[in-house]
Amino acid sequence: MKPYYNFIAGEWVQGARTLQNINPSDTADVIGEFAQANAEQAFQAVAAARQAVPAMAKMTIQARSDALDFVSRELFARREELGTLLAREEGKTLADGIGEVARASYIFRFFAGEVLHASGDLIDSVRPGVRVEVTREPIGVVSIITPWNFPIAIPAWKIAPALAFGNAVVFKPAELVPGSAWALSEIISRAGFPAGAFNLVIGKGSEIGAALIESPQVDAITFTGSVSTGKRIASQAVGRLAKLQMEMGGKNPQIILDDADLNVAVNVALQSAFFQTGQRCTASSRLIVTDGIHDRFVNALHERMQTLRIDHALKAGTDIGPVVDQSQLDQDLRYIEIGKREGARLVFGGERLQRETNGFYLQPALFTETTADMQINRDEIFGPVASVLRVKDYDEALAASNDTQFGLSAGIATTSLKYAEHFKRHAEAGMVMVNLPTAGVDYHVPFGGRKGSSYGPREQGKAAREFYTTVKTAYIG
Ligand code: NAD
Repeated sequence: MKPYYNFIAGEWVQGARTLQNINPSDTADVIGEFAQANAEQAFQAVAAARQAVPAMAKMTIQARSDALDFVSRELFARREELGTLLAREEGKTLADGIGEVARASYIFRFFAGEVLHASGDLIDSVRPGVRVEVTREPIGVVSIITPWNFPIAIPAWKIAPALAFGNAVVFKPAELVPGSAWALSEIISRAGFPAGAFNLVIGKGSEIGAALIESPQVDAITFTGSVSTGKRIASQAVGRLAKLQMEMGGKNPQIILDDADLNVAVNVALQSAFFQTGQRCTASSRLIVTDGIHDRFVNALHERMQTLRIDHALKAGTDIGPVVDQSQLDQDLRYIEIGKREGARLVFGGERLQRETNGFYLQPALFTETTADMQINRDEIFGPVASVLRVKDYDEALAASNDTQFGLSAGIATTSLKYAEHFKRHAEAGMVMVNLPTAGVDYHVPFGGRKGSSYGPREQGKAAREFYTTVKTAYIG
């Protein structure tokens, strides 16, 4: 089998050991044996990145733009092949896998353009005979740590701006999805960046994470993942004053008001609660529904859920693939039991499904008669599990939607301009969706949340410049 090595200092390097990458749709299908770096190799990658900082500084903006454009073009040309790999290792459907690779390509293209955009100000000083120049410079070495649920898009939206703005990178993908990360890295390795400017280390966070976070040679850390890992990383990074950006969990609300178009309401709920197996940080797991539409909405959603086809990610006609692995499946099933114990009514789903191949298939679950204090309404489950919270009116719905430690995305289904406008201003979330699913965002505008969902500057679009550069103010006499 082809060795999937780490990429350190411009060389493909064998790991300390290997780990199998298993297809969650079919556990008999082994995608490959992937190198697992040890802590020493992670430190070598950090040192290589440090050494490459001067070479990155010398790389012209034309050369950087060309290199990013090269990555974009190859991703797009190979989107079917890489989308298949992504669907095979993560379990999202083939269409979603191909869509995600295309999105990664657009992200690289966006930043290939962004490199060339003039930035900086030349300003008169308040003192006579003095001018002030405000410019942005690379930060230096950036550690990039990513989760498993978007195996190529999240790496892309961190790696592309990091390199675009002239930084050197050490990239650590999630253990469960090294295939897409390796394929992306292999393309970047041929794009024309100086040796050491981009490094890939595959391995366990608990083993190699410390090198990427605690090394004084790392200037900035960008992390997407769970709140618990984020808090651990923050305590290590902030302690040594490293620049830090984190995107973490969500418990996103989707409000359905009496005046909503029922079709729109059911579509947005179905899409954001269950598609991609509910494994999106922007998925809506709390459906907050006003009295007047409650029963009609629950019946219509229930009916649509019965038509969903849960099957092998690569099979034509599959709407929803498997859960990513056994431990996430166990977590989903545990929360379904917790919901029942708490007194919520399981109106549909929640049971493990058998298919032709042995995979982690779960029937999406819908709870009704839930209360705000139930654990299923407070914790991020990260699976195809949604609960309906019945409320009296818009005011109660708004209060319920903000009653969470998270603040990533919040949605409302309504035909009322008044409520839509009010919600846009008063939802305590980084992103607000009106008559659209809470999940599904553009790549050219800021992405991120509030409260326990995010920490530090926004990602993506023009906002990315804030994290990946540092400001210099020069006075010229
Ligand atoms: P996770 O926190 O378990 O892992 C994320 C990454 O951190 C992985 O690469 C992992 O190896 C690494 N890691 C783990 N321990 C580490 C340590 N001690 N030091 C350094 N790195 C370490 O998260 P996950 O299970 O891969 O992903 C699911 C979570 O990600 C969910 O909570 C989801 O909401 C969140 N997520 C958030 C966003 C967002 O933009 N807000 C997007 C996608 C996923």
